Amino acid sequence: LKPVPSDFEISRAQHPKHITDIAHEIGITDHELEQHGPYKAKVSLNILDRLKSRKNGKYILVGGITPTPLGEGKSTTTVGLVQALGAHLNKIAFANVRQPSMGPTFGIKGGAAGGGYSQVIPMDEFNMHLTGDIHAISQANNLLAAAIDTRMFHEESQKDAALYKRLVPPKKGVRSFTKSMLNRLERLGITKTDPNALTEEEVSKFVRLNIDPDTITWRRVVDCNDRHLRSITVGQGATEKGHTRQTGFDITVASECMAILALNTGIKDIRRRLGAMVVASDIHGNPVTCEDIGAAGALTALLKDAIKPNLMQTLEGTPVFVHAGPFANISIGASSVLADQIALKLAGTEAGEPDSKAGYVVTEAGFDFTMGGERFFNIKCRTSGLKPDAVVLVATVRALKLHGGGPDVKPGQALADEYTTENVALVTKGCENLKKQISNAKRYGVPVVVAINRFVTDSDAELAAIREQALLAGADDAIPTNHWEEGGAGAVELAEGVIKAAEKENNFELLYETENTSAVEKLEIIAKEMYGADGVELSELARKKIETYTRQGFGNLPICIAKTQYSLSHDPKLKGVPKGFTVPIRDVRASVGAGYLYALAAEIMTIPGLPTHAGYLNVEVNEKGEIDGLF
Ligand code: ADP
Repeated sequence: LKPVPSDFEISRAQHPKHITDIAHEIGITDHELEQHGPYKAKVSLNILDRLKSRKNGKYILVGGITPTPLGEGKSTTTVGLVQALGAHLNKIAFANVRQPSMGPTFGIKGGAAGGGYSQVIPMDEFNMHLTGDIHAISQANNLLAAAIDTRMFHEESQKDAALYKRLVPPKKGVRSFTKSMLNRLERLGITKTDPNALTEEEVSKFVRLNIDPDTITWRRVVDCNDRHLRSITVGQGATEKGHTRQTGFDITVASECMAILALNTGIKDIRRRLGAMVVASDIHGNPVTCEDIGAAGALTALLKDAIKPNLMQTLEGTPVFVHAGPFANISIGASSVLADQIALKLAGTEAGEPDSKAGYVVTEAGFDFTMGGERFFNIKCRTSGLKPDAVVLVATVRALKLHGGGPDVKPGQALADEYTTENVALVTKGCENLKKQISNAKRYGVPVVVAINRFVTDSDAELAAIREQALLAGADDAIPTNHWEEGGAGAVELAEGVIKAAEKENNFELLYETENTSAVEKLEIIAKEMYGADGVELSELARKKIETYTRQGFGNLPICIAKTQYSLSHDPKLKGVPKGFTVPIRDVRASVGAGYLYALAAEIMTIPGLPTHAGYLNVEVNEKGEIDGLF
């Protein structure tokens, strides 16, 4: 329909296929499928074993240029591209996307199912609850938070021997250590397995975590933009006997547990990673982990279903995996390794089958390429060992006009005339940003196709100018695409270009080595090569933290830099291709279980607030039980 109706009207007008039909079409067997209602299902990880002899399908990453605050259509393009590949070119094609947080859904941003005629459906189920993975993460995160505060409370009120008796109570007269206790003893260098054999000194070493309360980094989480929880005092009840402590909430998707959900490769790996999460230092400066608290087994139990990817579908009935959604601000902003691995096998070929039979897995890196793309390669691909066959870089006329010097673009406000009338010179000037992002993507040795996401106000001459500039900058192709208005049919040319690019030679390489490169060197490499900075400048705090992490043995982890996505630099006001700047690193933190350090190049919000006119104001349920007003 033209004009294109609202996202929820389009989603509702399409009757989805039963999820078992989608599963059968792509070769998932009934016993590998766990249905959650008619349109969603979890897929068992056993499938990886069944398909292990297959060669992987083609792996395509969708990233973006430096966007406007309105978003330039990475999710929409991811969905449009697989609709073209799957429903128009007869390929097996998966879209692998993140599960959105309900904070932004009811806040300012709205949902994240794509848009127009390129969406994941049913969009209301996609945007709310899904199969409960985010709830499971909240539960796991908050169990650990409760365990930390309670452990300190118990340690303070009991002498060593009494604490030991309670911690290792006799069951039918026999004391025994739990698995996590044995792990802790091993780390303490105590090899005894009989609880009665520990010396007094060993008992006291074992029972005292001696957490330094000022070093606790573990916070509570909730999946809601509740700004009044940013800073809170816990322990104010009389029963906690004055053990108050300042702490706060983050949004659930900012939890390290969510980053681990995205990066783990199975139950054994997630158990190890959850155990390795560092929650504080002890009074001697040693890291205290979730394993020390003894909660890693329970957290794994809480996440044992969440680690199975969720199968849904596009508007055109092609398969989608929705799995994990780490907060792009401070984490990798990519969907899960497991969903990619499973989809790549399902889209893969058996021995002897020609390469032309391979299907496609299209996945998205949140934020612009300096952030999402860089982290996708250097953290996610480093973890999974997977190599992308091509990068699709989404560009729009409006973002390039902004980089060319156009006026500010703000959500909720009408676009200035510059954005809705033809101005080839302005777009061409802004293409400098696109060119830098192309060269950033090419740095990894993979073919790059620019997807020029068409808006109804764009002119053919503007799109042609972008194509010309992109090719000049070395893009393998640059193709206008109209999937928002036309669905997969509007992205067929883009899909053909991606198929061609993915066949090309590929010299994939990461940006830096982790082992012999110090944390500061890694920061310098990312800032200079990706952002075009002169270098980084570390605050005193950041320098000290790096020293501590290096001493604790975490200096060899890759680094995730948290900065704005609205500029190549750290300063959102600097558009185009800023030069002559130094990136300030204010603080460095560790996500040891997830497997990276993260450096803060800006004040980063870890739980957003609600605007005055928030998304929730529009939402109603009609008499038929259908949801109106989600966008
Ligand atoms: P990103 O993933 O890059 O943040 P989205 O795909 O979520 O961007 O798109 C941002 C918003 O813009 C969504 O509301 C989407 O429906 C809309 N949008 C995307 N592409 C187009 C287009 N070509 N025309 C009109 N609206 C679009």
